[in-house]
Amino acid sequence: MTTRRTPRQLERTLTQNLKHIRDHRRTQFGVGPGWFPLLGRLDHKLTQLAGTPEMYTYSQIKQKMGGLRCYTHISPDLPKEVRDQMDDAVTAAEKQSYETCEECSAPGVRRNPRGWVSTLCDECDAAREARRRRGQK
Ligand SMILES: [Zn+2]
Repeated sequence: MTTRRTPRQLERTLTQNLKHIRDHRRTQFGVGPGWFPLLGRLDHKLTQLAGTPEMYTYSQIKQKMGGLRCYTHISPDLPKEVRDQMDDAVTAAEKQSYETCEECSAPGVRRNPRGWVSTLCDECDAAREARRRRGQK
């Protein structure tokens, strides 16, 4: 069994750039806590590539069709080679999200109950199904 971390603990892994978009542009941030560590790793990588977090910002981080969509603005002052590497890092994180439970970070698969696609582990999917049976959202 993997150790499940609580959302509050997951939040600690968010870096300043990510906290900024979440706190100040709330409507632009719409993913579950299970993806926070993934975003944290991506953000660390982007900072490493850019040299400083001031060279990029996030315009939108959301879930679409069960996968992470991460839109960034990268400074045109960075060499094209670096910008390409940063784009690749974002693409890699987006791919990884399709195998990561959006609720708890455990390995997950894409599920499509009644049209609302999301990536969840067995446990979180069962919990969601149970909530639906009880008539909750
Ligand atoms: Zn889960």
